[in-house]
This record gives sequence, C-alpha cells and structure tokens, in this order.
Amino acid sequence: MSVQELGARVGALTGRARDDLALLVGHRSVADPRQYPDQGCRQAAEAVARLFAAEGFAEVRLLDTPDGSRAVFGHRPGPPGAPTVLLYSHYDVQPPLDEEAWRTPPWTLTERDGRWYGRGAADCKGNIVAQLTALRALGDRLPVGVKVICEGSEEQSTGGLSAFVRAHPDLLRADSVLVCDTGNAEAGLPTATTHLRGSLHLTMTVSALSGPVHSGTFGGPAPDPLNALIALLAPLHNAAGDTTVPGVADDGRWQGADYPAERYRRDAGILPGVGLAGSGTPADMLWARHALTVVGIDCPAVVGSAPAVQAAVRAKLNVRIPYGSDVDVLWKALRTHLEASAPWNVRVEFADVNRSQPFRSATEGPAYAALATAMEQAFGRPMTTVAQGGSIPVCVALQETFPDAEIMLIGVEEPRCLIHAPNESVDPSEIERTALALALFLRAGAGGRS
Ligand SMILES: [Zn+2]
Repeated sequence: MSVQELGARVGALTGRARDDLALLVGHRSVADPRQYPDQGCRQAAEAVARLFAAEGFAEVRLLDTPDGSRAVFGHRPGPPGAPTVLLYSHYDVQPPLDEEAWRTPPWTLTERDGRWYGRGAADCKGNIVAQLTALRALGDRLPVGVKVICEGSEEQSTGGLSAFVRAHPDLLRADSVLVCDTGNAEAGLPTATTHLRGSLHLTMTVSALSGPVHSGTFGGPAPDPLNALIALLAPLHNAAGDTTVPGVADDGRWQGADYPAERYRRDAGILPGVGLAGSGTPADMLWARHALTVVGIDCPAVVGSAPAVQAAVRAKLNVRIPYGSDVDVLWKALRTHLEASAPWNVRVEFADVNRSQPFRSATEGPAYAALATAMEQAFGRPMTTVAQGGSIPVCVALQETFPDAEIMLIGVEEPRCLIHAPNESVDPSEIERTALALALFLRAGAGGRS
C-alpha cells in the first residue's frame, strides 16, 4: 500500500476518530477526588480499554498505580524477533477552570470553525484517538509488537505511573517509545520535542501564632505569617524577573531554534504595553533557565476577611528546571534559603514535594530516523525539533528504566490548542496527519531489524 493509499484509509476513519473523541471528552476524567468523583476517571479508563481491545489488543487491563489512579495497558505481540513499540498517552485531564470562559460546553466535543472543542480534545485524548486511528488503518498488517500505556494521573504530578514503571520494568519494556503528549511547533509543521524541563512542586506552610489575633489589639509586634511568606518569596526573583534561588546559577542560553518574542507574546496572550520578564530571550527563559511560579496562596479571601493577623498561611510553589540542571540540587538550595531566611524564626514546613528531572529525548538512533521519515511523508515537509517548557515525569522514569530504548515525543497539541486553558481545541487534520505518521512509523518496522 502506498503512502497515499494509507493516507486515504486514515482520512476515511476521521468520522470514527471524532466519535471516539466525543466519547472520551464526555468523561470528566480529572484525577483529583477533591474536585471530581472518581467515576469520570474510571469510565474514561474503561472506554480507552474497550477501544484498544477492539483494535486487536488481546491483553488489555487496568493497572492500579501507587497514587490511586489506574493506567490502561495493552499488548499486541509482533512476529517473532520483531521490535516492540510502546505508545504512551494519558486519559486524565485538567479541570475546565473558569467554566464561564468556555464558548462551548467543556465536556461535549463541539465543532466550531473547523476545530473540535472540549477539555482534553488535544491534551491528551486527541492523541489517544490518533493512536487508535493509526492502528485501525493498518489492520492486521503490523511488522512490530505494540504495547500501549494510557496514564490516569499525568496532570496531577503524583507520579503513579512513574513508580509503577520502576516497580514493573518487564511489563512495559520496549525498543522504542512514542510519548504522544506534545505537538507540532505550528499546525502542519511536523515536530519532535527533544527537551522537557524538570519540575519541583511543593506546598509550604508558614506559622507563627496559635490562632488569629485582632490586628488592632495585637498587630505590630505580632509576627505576621503572611508578611513572612512575602519576605521569603520576594528574593526568589530579581528586578528583571529572572529566577534567583540563592546558590543556583541561572544564565543558560538556548542553542536550538529561536522563539521570536512577537510569537511568544501572541501565543501567551501578553497584554499590549506589558513587558516580558527576565534578562534572556524567550527561548532562554523557557528552555534553558529555571522558572519559579507561586501557583497558589491560602490566606483569607478579600470578601469575608477580618482585621486580624493570621496564625498560618500556605503557598504552593512550582519550579521548572532546564536540561543540564538537577532538581535535587535546586530543591536543596531552595529549602536552605526558605528555612534559613525565615523572619522572626517563624515556622516553615514543607509538604507534597514532587520532583522530576529534566529530560532529553533520543535523536540519533534508528527509530528516530524512522520517525523523521514517517513524519516527513505524512506532513509533506521535513521534521523539525523543539523543546518544551513543561514536564512529563514518566519520560524520565522510562529513560532510567529502559536506558537502551529510544524515547521520542510527538502529538497533536500545537499552540492554538490552548491546552490547560478554557476553550481547549484540536485541529482534526493534525489528528489525521499524526495518525498517518504513526501508521507509517509502525509499518516501516519502527527502525528495528525485522
Ligand atoms: Zn498531556
């Protein structure tokens, strides 16, 4: 079958891809039981398992992972001696956030101006559908073994699948891994993601009093935990906006393709007249340097607040770590600063500390060459590479567990998808071309000798 014929088969499967995606988007699979009942995740996992079982995966099952989530695993063995490809995706999603900001219902796949809208339409349910479409187009003609793993808590940074991979190395062992959870630099431009930043998430509590006290009767000498928190966090950025954790060098320069400031401003939605933070270029700041963000603070909300000094406050911090730096070194330096600089000896405690190292994908082996060929055939343009500022911790677990496997990242999540934001969408032709690239890659033997 020629590339064109295979492409036509993929194209004819678009209606089914849309039906599958509508089914998956309909499950509210936010893996946070504090916000959403577990039922949404369970139903999504069962739906994914049924869909892969229908594509010749005799052995499909749900794996319980240590963080309480479930991953879907399937295996379709290849001919004797054939290489095995592991296809990764995740079925859990971010919450819709501000539901009022959605122009279409977040849990109903809706077409608008040629794009399909819904939470998870791109990240990562669109990638699940691209994998299914590739397998459907190929039918029984597979020269390789295929394993699928569809994670159930990727968006929560709770590390369930990473721990599972390390504890059960044989189940997921493969010669190459396609992590389908990234996307093209722009729609139509085939792109492999080569670098991911690592991440550190933590919650810190600052406490000083046994209970809140009146700010008139006691305010002044009372050690205010909110003031202490502000004093601890303020030195972590300089006036330019660079992240400045004492003891951590942060002057990296990005060596790969540039990210022009104008495009970055547009993609990020920076308001006119507002400047960019940091002393490097957008590419330096995004891919070669640390980025510390205070993602939440627990203290009284403005409405309902009383004139009082609080007993304790809490903040959640997230630090992104560039390739070449070490998350453990960063964490030690940050912790030392926060503990040693606490004003008035207020108590500083840490909880929910999650760490993942930065990642660099394979770019030299035969599977990477086969992927580059398949992407070029599917999109009609040579494949390019980018880095991503986000983190996919399971990549590090897979690399450490299978040091010989070639791990590569592609997918349907181009910048217009607005993943993690209201009005997430996917371009159906990105699903189609990504599915064709996957099918061509598998059909060519995934770069292995078979
Ligand atoms: Zn994702």
